[in-house]
Amino acid sequence: MERVYNFAAGPATIDPSVLEKAQKELVCYQDKGMSVMEMSHRSAMYLDIYNETEALLRQLMGIPENYKVLFLQGGATLQFSAVPLNLMGEKNTADYADTGNFAHLAAEEAKKYGEVRIAASSREDGYTFIPRQFDWNPDAAYAYITTNNTIYGTRYTFVPDTGAVPLVADMSSNILSEPTDVSKFGVIFAAAQKNIGPAGMVIAIIREDLIREDLDPKMPIYMRYDTHAKNDSMYNTPNCWAIYCCGKVFKYLKSIGGLEEMHKRNIAKAKVIYDFLDQSKMFKGTVEPEFRSLMNIPFVTESAELDAEVVAATKAAGYDNLKGHKSVGGLRASVYNAMPIEGAEALVEFLKKFEAEHTK
Ligand code: PMP
Repeated sequence: MERVYNFAAGPATIDPSVLEKAQKELVCYQDKGMSVMEMSHRSAMYLDIYNETEALLRQLMGIPENYKVLFLQGGATLQFSAVPLNLMGEKNTADYADTGNFAHLAAEEAKKYGEVRIAASSREDGYTFIPRQFDWNPDAAYAYITTNNTIYGTRYTFVPDTGAVPLVADMSSNILSEPTDVSKFGVIFAAAQKNIGPAGMVIAIIREDLIREDLDPKMPIYMRYDTHAKNDSMYNTPNCWAIYCCGKVFKYLKSIGGLEEMHKRNIAKAKVIYDFLDQSKMFKGTVEPEFRSLMNIPFVTESAELDAEVVAATKAAGYDNLKGHKSVGGLRASVYNAMPIEGAEALVEFLKKFEAEHTK
């Protein structure tokens, strides 16, 4: 069976060369006589894999020395709780920018633990843009943004200036899609299942001075950043297999020329779809062009019925997972790093034909 172009929002498509390498080593890793899935996370052979994976990520993103890189579980959702629990401290107040469903969920979760101010919001406007004005509180323990809004298809085109207040960013749906100046952030976290690798892992990149030990003693030990920082993500058993696969993705990104090259490719690929939407009479994009995501491209027709017809037709033709999120409807093409430009071109060709046939 041939692989389809998979436009899923996550878990999402992975570069076939990565899958093939993992397949080759699946039963027996190099000369180790066992699969990575069977290795003790504390064995020298696994630690080599782990250390190489972390080093590759540090290289790719240019992560400064004073940041810890943690490979955790619980998805991005656990970080919605871990961030306030670790960072609120005695200030007990944090600022959130509400720019999409996941930003909103993160703010709602943080409210359980301290005061949450909404420094900017596009919620009333259907999350169709990233606000240009923010009312940051200089006394906040941290300020929080979601750099790419997976469901609504917007992205920050700038890093907001929060002065001395540490900036926390959920980069789940656009990490590694373009170069990032990590030093502008206090904490970056990202679920793996979009641009990094298989589901079941989240990467947290944390400036060391934000890792506190004076936390509520009742806090679950797994949620404490200091637990993982002191133990190099090996306090308990990490997702060894996912970490290994991520290492393969990092190697692949390095081999093509790193994040600058990836960014160029992502711009070119998204342009194929946006250019089509801008001239189509049947399909239209749903967000302000300035803030269009390079990763998630939502679009609609004039009716929900026609949307459903297009989704069914694309699926039958081998373009899978184009149904928009239930909260927005319509269609959404997720074109993460591993989606080749050929996938975007083929989809556009198909949509063009569909439009021509339906407007005869
Ligand atoms: N943040 C963003 C931006 C996301 O896109 C998602 C998942 N789609 C999440 C958080 C939640 O991630 P998880 O399912 O890993 O908890």
